[in-house]
Amino acid sequence: MRCPRASGRTLSALLAIASLAVAASLSAAGGNLRKTVVISPELKVVLGEGDEVALSARPLPGEGVDAFVQRLTESPKAKREIFAQNAGARLLRKDVFVSVPYGLLSESYRKIAMGALFPDDRADASGWNHRVAALAGKPESLWRIAEWFTGKGANYREIREVGPIASLQTEAGQVVRIPTALLSPAFRGEVEAAAAMPPMPLEFGKDEKGRYALYRLRRGEALYSAVVVRFTGRVHAEDVNAKAAEIAERSGIADVHAIPVGFPVRIPVEDLVAEFKPANDPARIEEEKAKLEAAQFANRVRAADLSGVTFVLDAGHGGRDTGARVAGVEEARYVYDLACRVERLLARHTKARVVATVRGGAPCGGRNSDPGDFRTARVMTTPPYPIEDPAAGVNFRWYLANSVLRSAEANGGSEEKTVFVSLHADSLHPAVRGSMVYVPGEKFLKGSFEKSGEIYAARREVREAPRVSFSRKERIKAEGLSRDFAEKIVAAFRAADLPLHAFAPIRAYVIRGGRQWVPAILRYNRIPARVLLEVCNLNNPEDRKLLVTRSYREKVARSLVSALVEF
Ligand SMILES: [Zn+2]
Repeated sequence: MRCPRASGRTLSALLAIASLAVAASLSAAGGNLRKTVVISPELKVVLGEGDEVALSARPLPGEGVDAFVQRLTESPKAKREIFAQNAGARLLRKDVFVSVPYGLLSESYRKIAMGALFPDDRADASGWNHRVAALAGKPESLWRIAEWFTGKGANYREIREVGPIASLQTEAGQVVRIPTALLSPAFRGEVEAAAAMPPMPLEFGKDEKGRYALYRLRRGEALYSAVVVRFTGRVHAEDVNAKAAEIAERSGIADVHAIPVGFPVRIPVEDLVAEFKPANDPARIEEEKAKLEAAQFANRVRAADLSGVTFVLDAGHGGRDTGARVAGVEEARYVYDLACRVERLLARHTKARVVATVRGGAPCGGRNSDPGDFRTARVMTTPPYPIEDPAAGVNFRWYLANSVLRSAEANGGSEEKTVFVSLHADSLHPAVRGSMVYVPGEKFLKGSFEKSGEIYAARREVREAPRVSFSRKERIKAEGLSRDFAEKIVAAFRAADLPLHAFAPIRAYVIRGGRQWVPAILRYNRIPARVLLEVCNLNNPEDRKLLVTRSYREKVARSLVSALVEF
């Protein structure tokens, strides 16, 4: 099979010609609408009745029949079929177009045909986005879309499931996403290129307000996501909007929704996340050093069936604390269900010991059950804590986690074989989507901390060890091991085509309202490998739709379990 990358140059040259020379026409022949796009004097693509696609081609100067068939199909065997379909034509004449059905075309020509018919389609890091065009009068079917981009019409089911797409009937303008794993090689190559495209280097300059980084917007990029979210790390709506307004003003942008491609946008250097600061910036140097140092502590424990591993599984919120609530979707309900799914999969497929930090009044349901009752959830300290106050609910969880670690160590386990995950769903700027993993940034773990008061003193886990502090080595080790685990989670999610935060899916701190910190559940937790997983952004409608489906939650649970096994 031809490598799609190797043919990239020819292909993009052809597509450039296509976009210049395309002359589209609709014709009504015998009442059947057809669409023809002329790509070059020798090449047309035709969309016929029932959305049959064919290329119509003439030989290049001096090209014989075998070379012609080879060029378009990469398969000499296609010759008979092509000529059988062209009214018995046996000879190639330079003035007669020969029709080649889509199914016989080579990968490169398939991409050319689709590029000519559907110029609004886009590849991004997570797949191919087909915009339903209804070229021949009625919207193209999911079956056809699956056939064109994956080679198999029956794949429409999976496309529908990951969409998720409610109706079998598509509508003009609807975007159908085809996940990377299903795509045939030519389209997958484009997705991989989009994912690997490094961000444009920033130039640095100075104006009356101080130093700035200059970024030129690319086609299809918006100020919110491509600039503010990517370069300043802000994700909460109020932060993103405020910073976008500030950057727009400084850059002389009158309308943030109509910024021309290539427009120079000025981002204050002090707002850049460390990795985008100038190479000699002390904050960037410090962060790179910290990351390198932490990388020494990558996990070296291997236990494929997870025997001897203790997994502390924390469903965020619960009880009276619903967590984020958007359009009737409550965070606590779905992350509780997700935790149940993870626990079931671990019990079935591994020998890990699972300790759930919270439990509801009713037992967890199975794979096909709806989310259980999170309102009766209590933190499983001794005695349990019915979650009345969200902050106390969080504190009891990390006290419990620390107690689990102590008893694991006392029973011959090691801290390397204890892992902690807290499950949440975020409510961020609607332009942000996908999962994010928080790890404890070393520099935010300094100092010591303890809680006092009656409700705390009443619980064994607090009395055992009320105060928490970390040595420098413990802080670095925690960041290193947690990053290692977070990378496995990101890799597993990527492999399963689950949406991930586009620019920085792993984060060592929260940025909000001009402050930076590590969430308390990680901040005071002594289990070295500990992450907080935000499974989606509830303010993003696509993410929200996914979270309420069982299939998405089951897929997230499976990916988390495989990340744990990898780790
Ligand atoms: Zn939460």
